[in-house]
Amino acid sequence: MSDLRELPLDRPSSFDDQGRRRKIHPTPVSGFFHRRRELLKFVLILFFLSVPWIKVNGHPLLLLDIQNRIFSLFGVVFRAHDLPIVVLFLLLFTTTIGWLTTLYGRVWCGWACPQTVFIEFVYRRIETWIEGDAITRRKMDQGPFTFDRFAKLAIKWALFLAFTLVITHSLLAVFVGTERLPVLLSSPPSENLFFFLFTWILTGILLLDFGFLREQFCIVMCPYGKMQSVFQDAHSLAITYDSARGEPRRSIDTKTHGDCIDCYKCVQVCPTGIDIRRGSNQLECIGCTACADACDSVMERLKKPLGLIKYNSEAQSGHGFLARFFKGRVLAYEVFFLILITILSLTLSRRTDFSVEIFKVRGAPYTQIDSEWLSNSFHLELGNESFHAKTFTVELPEGVNPSSIRLLIPNNSVELKSGAIQQIPLTIEFKKELLTLGKTMLPLEVSIKTLSDSAKEPNQRYKAEVTLIGPF
Ligand code: SF4
Ligand code: SF4
Repeated sequence: MSDLRELPLDRPSSFDDQGRRRKIHPTPVSGFFHRRRELLKFVLILFFLSVPWIKVNGHPLLLLDIQNRIFSLFGVVFRAHDLPIVVLFLLLFTTTIGWLTTLYGRVWCGWACPQTVFIEFVYRRIETWIEGDAITRRKMDQGPFTFDRFAKLAIKWALFLAFTLVITHSLLAVFVGTERLPVLLSSPPSENLFFFLFTWILTGILLLDFGFLREQFCIVMCPYGKMQSVFQDAHSLAITYDSARGEPRRSIDTKTHGDCIDCYKCVQVCPTGIDIRRGSNQLECIGCTACADACDSVMERLKKPLGLIKYNSEAQSGHGFLARFFKGRVLAYEVFFLILITILSLTLSRRTDFSVEIFKVRGAPYTQIDSEWLSNSFHLELGNESFHAKTFTVELPEGVNPSSIRLLIPNNSVELKSGAIQQIPLTIEFKKELLTLGKTMLPLEVSIKTLSDSAKEPNQRYKAEVTLIGPF
């Protein structure tokens, strides 16, 4: 306890005066926020691990197949050339994070960040199970390196490794797809060296972070943690200590005192090792609410009102649900959010999961076949941007007289597998009499059929138009 009462003012609490790391073993807590966070953590872990397997409209909720340059976000499929849509999604994501942080401070860090969720729900549980509670672990850190300690460490890290491998293989499925994951796992590493190394390097990084670095990642490395002051304003919610009510702290010879009994329970439970009574805007505070629950349990025993440590804002504006939604910076985020959603919806409603481009062949603009017939040559570029094979067939639309137009395509039923792009020659022969002042517009239709029975992608028709030219 003594070290908790002597937290430094000139450096993060997790460093000693020599600059070495002071390992933090937070005491478990229970209470109003804890119960809700536990439930959320359980749901989030299930969600994080099953993301690659969740399908929306028959497509993965999240797929980042960089190798084949095919991506899926919320069931919407993107190709590499859909960069503007990806940028729109990123802007939307950043705006949402900005909006959330301005309103609710570090609610992401404390409640939903995978780092917090996995460490608290899985890794700290394993640690407690193998090495004992926080007090035992603190003592063990200061004791000699015995065989018993070595055995416990070995078992703990073996379990850490096993769970980290579960996480990294879920992440691998995000990059390769769930269909390819079993194939990769059953083939020798030499055949998939890149993915093999990717998995093990990622496992090493996550193991280091979740098993060892923990709060140091939040304090020293996390870019989002560093940007808090950019997003937050005086009305942003944070975990705060009510100093007007709590001070002066009760001590043996103080007769008139506030509600804080200086028990340091709030410090003991803090995963980043800080004292919230030193201010709500400390860099290390991840807004996890553990100190609020710990203090509430003390207040309950003292029969005092709860909430000496609670969610509040610097401006003491409380956390009224509606009022904060229509103020300054929050309102600006909401307007920008609506603009982005409108642009994104319009863009998505106009895009298809295939592409058809017709280019004129360079060189002679036309060929005279005989006194009656001419021909023009084109390149037809077809792309299949869906997850299933498709056939593309070029046809003359109804109303076009086939006795004056002939389409010459080497194989007019082009089958393209998912992600494939193919260019084929297209020659159009036509009667000279169709031309007006040396040219005419010809409508074409491309019929696109999905080959998989299970695919929910309907057959489609694409309308194109080409300019036929001849002598003036
Ligand atoms: S000060 Fe409180 S809310 Fe902030 S990290 Fe520590 S326990 Fe969590
Ligand atoms: S838990 Fe509450 S009463 Fe105890 S030291 Fe912290 S603020 Fe004071």
